[in-house]
Amino acid sequence: MKKVYLFILVSLLLMSTNSITHADKPPLTADLIIINANIHTMDAARPAAQALAIIGNRIVAVDSNGEIKKLGGANTRVVDANGQLILPGFNDAHVHFMSGGFQLSSVDLRDANTPQEFAERIRDFAAKLPKGRWITGGDWDHERWPDAKLPTKELIDQYTPNTPVFVNRLDGHMALANSLALKLAGVTRETKDPDGGVIVRDPKTREPTGILKDAAQSFVWKVIPEPSFEEKLAAARAASNHAASLGVTSVQDMSAGADVGIYQTLLNHGELKTRIYAVWPLPSWDHLARTGVRAHFGSPMLRTGGLKGFADGSLGSTTALFFDPYLDAPNTYGIPSGEMFPAGAMLERVHGADRAGLQVIIHAIGDKANDLILSTYEQVERQDGDRDRRFRIEHAQHLRLQDIPRFARDKVIASMQPYHAIDDGRWAEKRIGHERAKTTYAFRSLLDSGATLAFGTDWTVAPLNPMLSICAAVTRRTLDGKNPNGWIPEQKISVEEAVRAYTVGSAYAEFQENEKGTISPGKLADLVILSGDIFKIDPNEIEKVKVVMTIMDGRVVYEARRE
Ligand SMILES: [Zn+2]
Repeated sequence: MKKVYLFILVSLLLMSTNSITHADKPPLTADLIIINANIHTMDAARPAAQALAIIGNRIVAVDSNGEIKKLGGANTRVVDANGQLILPGFNDAHVHFMSGGFQLSSVDLRDANTPQEFAERIRDFAAKLPKGRWITGGDWDHERWPDAKLPTKELIDQYTPNTPVFVNRLDGHMALANSLALKLAGVTRETKDPDGGVIVRDPKTREPTGILKDAAQSFVWKVIPEPSFEEKLAAARAASNHAASLGVTSVQDMSAGADVGIYQTLLNHGELKTRIYAVWPLPSWDHLARTGVRAHFGSPMLRTGGLKGFADGSLGSTTALFFDPYLDAPNTYGIPSGEMFPAGAMLERVHGADRAGLQVIIHAIGDKANDLILSTYEQVERQDGDRDRRFRIEHAQHLRLQDIPRFARDKVIASMQPYHAIDDGRWAEKRIGHERAKTTYAFRSLLDSGATLAFGTDWTVAPLNPMLSICAAVTRRTLDGKNPNGWIPEQKISVEEAVRAYTVGSAYAEFQENEKGTISPGKLADLVILSGDIFKIDPNEIEKVKVVMTIMDGRVVYEARRE
């Protein structure tokens, strides 16, 4: 019996030459293979390759065209990359995903270049809305206006008598309310500034101008009706589609909180095209701690376990906390965030969260805010002992020279957004002067000191497109074109380093370096095919490079239309 069986088998093998390879290797047929590619793996074990194979949601082989073709079968999809560059999918370490989704369908004020244009866009948008419906989002930037003066409610009141408006500056640290919104929120001349917030007032009348900074924004946020579940689902879908079109396969959502349920629904519908690390607000750390969840809990698609806090505001809103006063506002050093009150509250929270095994992630912009948070982390580490906790500082924007080595020494991840450097770089020196600016977005110094960098955008504060961020990190050319050789050029880094921070670094920042971040056998099949070789072209051209195809979890989630 056995001999007969063997005979048949050998005959079958001889009939098909292709099957002979199957005789000495276990039968392995790829679902998807990509050939003729310029693969930059970010994996030191094999930095470059021509082709790769995917089975299910995993990369199974990275090799030459010849070797990979052997893994093809009748049902294998073959993608010819035409020599184009393939990178690991980008992992944006800091986004506000839902606001991004809502922004995609809200009024766009980002590139309104004058107060008039700002007001007209709100007028036109309000005209299309049902009466009483709020206008939020916007992402305006008064720093691009001729006199850089803050807008006031009078600018838009005439166009929006029945439409409450609360549109934020692109950094989210202040927003403009119209008179109707202030009325609904009950904000008047008598309302006191809250801790960590400022109601900007007319110097003569003391009347609120409509600008609410940081914690003062919550007066209005409290009265804005929650969008419906369906509206949220639509926003999340829009955000995920947008990410896929830009080669972003993972995001770390700094303001996810209870939106996990939205993402879960999208995932169940098979519509989630982005892996999400859903981070909770640090002040509610005990809610998450009580569930027993530990850092990086969940599936490769949707995870939680991180907590995001705030130490201060932003440079653009003059609320980033510094050791020295602002040059253009000498009466202020910036303000600590509301979470820093009362004294000791932040330390207690970080302690609690850390003991519960959760990951702590804190926003710090000014040099004093960074020092305070580094010291808080050091204190917790001293008391609770060494463990793999991966504390993070978000932005790490302005650092004193002596604080830079503390990141590597304390193993604190610097989660930074290169686009902010070329954006804030237009006017940062008028706020803090040249000397202090030298250690602003100090990518080079941080890397040289041995720190781990994780890159992202802070979308919607900056555009989600990784090409813009990489271009910014490498050139440091400010958006106004005034620094063609780079603003603080000694802090430039290489394309390789920028891509590493955007893939390997950000994977590490969410405890996922064994699952993603490089193109290696066994890792999740997340990758992007680009229209240009960003390692070879003029760095100034990187921002023009487009995504040809995005693969996430082994699926093609975006494909550019061929001309
Ligand atoms: Zn942010």
